[in-house]
Amino acid sequence: MRVVVSGIPGVGKSTVLEMLKKKTDYEIINFGTLMYEMARDIGLVRSRDELRKLPIDTQINLQKKASAAIGRMENVVIDTHMTIKTPDGYMPGLPEWVLRELKCSAYFVIEADPQSILKRRSSDGTRSRDSEMLDDIIEHQAINRSFVASCSIYTGATVSLIKNEDGKAELAAQNIVRRLMKNA
Ligand code: AMP
Ligand code: MG
Repeated sequence: MRVVVSGIPGVGKSTVLEMLKKKTDYEIINFGTLMYEMARDIGLVRSRDELRKLPIDTQINLQKKASAAIGRMENVVIDTHMTIKTPDGYMPGLPEWVLRELKCSAYFVIEADPQSILKRRSSDGTRSRDSEMLDDIIEHQAINRSFVASCSIYTGATVSLIKNEDGKAELAAQNIVRRLMKNA
């Protein structure tokens, strides 16, 4: 079985997934890492945060290659995005051709209070996050809800919205694991 875990930058997805790793046998595969390694190897980017600034057709090519590789893996949690905020607009992380490769059973969307997301972004020196206003964060989380609905209607896979409140990443991970056990 394959499932998707998504969430906007700064929502605490990596932290939740670190905790998830200790609670399940599922392997956690980062979609962006696969894309980054492919792009880096051919000299397109030097950091993962440059990926979303590449021309859209280049991003789509990398996205297709990554999804073909992940679609062959069993029992994986796919760490990815419902949408990527590019200079050209929101790009779907799971367009039809990716959904067809991945054949996921469930989509999880990690969400948090927009203020907390702003704070988490400014304290993460490891990434080059875009500086955004509260309204941008609110919009991005709302957009992702509509994109996950489309994915679910197209594939029949279930949707869970997972709250990641300050200091409660462990609880968020537990909530995902509970669903994974039921689906297994
Ligand atoms: P992350 O470390 O999860 O923020 O992912 C790094 C980057 O990988 C993102 O900013 C996107 O540029 C890219 N990425 C991840 N998942 C996808 C996807 N499903 N489709 C397109 N690009 C993606
Ligand atoms: Mg992350």
